[in-house]
Amino acid sequence: MTDTTIVVPTLGRPSLAVLLDALARGTRRPDHPVVVVDDRKEATGPLPVDGGLDVVVLRSGGRGPAAARNLGWRETRTPWVSFLDDDVEPGPDWYACLLADLDAAPPWVSGSQGRVRVPLPTDRRPTDWERSTRGLEDAPWITADMSYRRAVLAQVGGFDERFHRAYREDADLALRVTAQRGRLVRGQRSVSHPVRPADDWVSLRQQAGNADDMLMNRLHGRAWRERAGAAPGRRPRHVAVTAAAALALVLALPVAGRRRWGPAALAALGWAAGTAELALARIGPGPRDGDEVRRMLLTSAAIPAAATWHTVRGAWQHRGATAWRGAPEVVLFDRDGTLVHDVPYNGRPELVRPVAGADDALDRLRRAGVRIGMITNQSGVALGRLTGEQVAAVNRRVEAQLGPFDTVQWCPHGPDDGCRCRKPAPGMVRQACSDLGVDPSRCVLVGDIGADVRAAEAAGGVGILVPAPSTARADVTAAAQVHPDLDSAVTAILAGRW
Ligand SMILES: [Mg+2]
Repeated sequence: MTDTTIVVPTLGRPSLAVLLDALARGTRRPDHPVVVVDDRKEATGPLPVDGGLDVVVLRSGGRGPAAARNLGWRETRTPWVSFLDDDVEPGPDWYACLLADLDAAPPWVSGSQGRVRVPLPTDRRPTDWERSTRGLEDAPWITADMSYRRAVLAQVGGFDERFHRAYREDADLALRVTAQRGRLVRGQRSVSHPVRPADDWVSLRQQAGNADDMLMNRLHGRAWRERAGAAPGRRPRHVAVTAAAALALVLALPVAGRRRWGPAALAALGWAAGTAELALARIGPGPRDGDEVRRMLLTSAAIPAAATWHTVRGAWQHRGATAWRGAPEVVLFDRDGTLVHDVPYNGRPELVRPVAGADDALDRLRRAGVRIGMITNQSGVALGRLTGEQVAAVNRRVEAQLGPFDTVQWCPHGPDDGCRCRKPAPGMVRQACSDLGVDPSRCVLVGDIGADVRAAEAAGGVGILVPAPSTARADVTAAAQVHPDLDSAVTAILAGRW
């Protein structure tokens, strides 16, 4: 039977309670605790998660739905991860249908999308905002109800966290998965996605998405819209209308002592015609009542300029953007000289002294949902200079001072024992990855000597050198990635530069 964990990013909207209640009252309850990721910057109050459903709450601190979902799926251990938005309403059979969809997916299927229905009023024509929400029904691969294999998410580094809004981050992920020959299918399950209440200016705020489109252009080339099934959009027209307005202003100003009223009026006419065309195109399919017409006229006058501004902003902001890699699944640390000051053959816990910043570096990884491990050569055991119990006691002291590790590996052999675990052999890295169910290609090892880096590379992972005072120059020269301290190394790792 297929196994999946539901992940719900939320801004604490009341609809979250409706969603969780619907899951709790379904014909079949979720087999695993639902992972709710609270993405509010400040938790202004408790989330409505006490509806009798088993729920795990994580906090992502307002970094957007992409980062929130990444935190959520990293917490899961099931073969599938099922994303739901906090404003969908699943029917009573939804979970049973989800399992059937995932069961029916052959091994070459990477993701399965649910069907989204947007209920609209039946007694009048839908407003601009309602039609915009209805677009979700046809949008391919939207994460309102989308399941991915966890291994696939790990392979591509999850969602690109440079998408801060709930916009394009799902299409971006789908394009990266399909670029790796992953197949995405539509399942039979469905959810209802009611239209959220919105104020008059929502369509203006949505123009911020133009900046995300610029990131999409940069990452996937201009042909991405076709591949992602996205509507062509009105950007060229918005830019033309904005240019006409700017031209009218410039011509009406006294340049070299004279205003050029004729050409200015012509440009103004161009702006007015473009604005009227946009307003009519938006008013036409709608209810055409006074409120909607007023809303459309006001926003249509401002949308071209807003769209152009966000386009320029996005193009500049993302001009150097490179392919998303995401955080690794696990970061392993060497112990002596990396996490704690090196005391040769140390068997005394009281001599453990963490390196400055080690606790913060580890905490940052834990908060990002990245698992951490410690792997250490302890040839002192082979040499008879300390016992296995002493090594374990020192490791426990390290954990007492720096917090728990998801895996701890140590090698008791000497350099001449021919074992497969002593670094630079890859045995401990492989064992750590195997214990955590992680592909070594998504593993980073941070150490202070060349043997650490070589062990990581021999296992198929990535080695990062953070030199200690005693590190040989040759090791520093040979390492592909060198950072002056753990903080700098972790910053790069979390940003996908590893
Ligand atoms: Mg070391």
